[in-house]
Amino acid sequence: MGKRALLNIDYTYDFVATDGKLTCGVPGQALEDNIVAITESFIEAGDDVFFAIDAHMNEDQLHPESKLFPPHNIIGTRGRDLYGKLADVYEKHKHASHVHYFDKTRYSAFVGTDLELKLRERGITELHLVGVCTDICILHTAIDAYNKGFDIVVHKKGVASFNMAGHEWALGHFEATLGGKVV
Ligand code: ZN
Repeated sequence: MGKRALLNIDYTYDFVATDGKLTCGVPGQALEDNIVAITESFIEAGDDVFFAIDAHMNEDQLHPESKLFPPHNIIGTRGRDLYGKLADVYEKHKHASHVHYFDKTRYSAFVGTDLELKLRERGITELHLVGVCTDICILHTAIDAYNKGFDIVVHKKGVASFNMAGHEWALGHFEATLGGKVV
């Protein structure tokens, strides 16, 4: 049987804080304790935890998101800092061999990263997803995971969006179309 891992996606200042550049606001802030608890439980169980964090250059006109969203998660700004107590959890455990952190530049944590190689090397087949936004980065990562044959578990109290309709739609899509579990 394959192993499980947690993907912790974009729970950063710009996506969560009240004055973040592309914030989910209150629904995002409401996840803090749940994300912390889920992350700690994986770390303590010895399961791999991957922090996949959006990284953009300022005024990158060639990036497709530049036409869609205000600048966010700019490299070198506090916008990329993990939000709230999750930052403390990462600081405490960042040297553990099963805690990983990498930058991503697209919605999906698989695009332009070595995530798939790391998962295959470790025999991981079940991906647990938490973070934001449910209907953007979580969704696109889940779709890639599905296409690559991974099993998906989305933690309902660990995901949020600024778009409530999109959030609800995506939760349905994970189960009905990607064969995932929403727990
Ligand atoms: Zn982005």
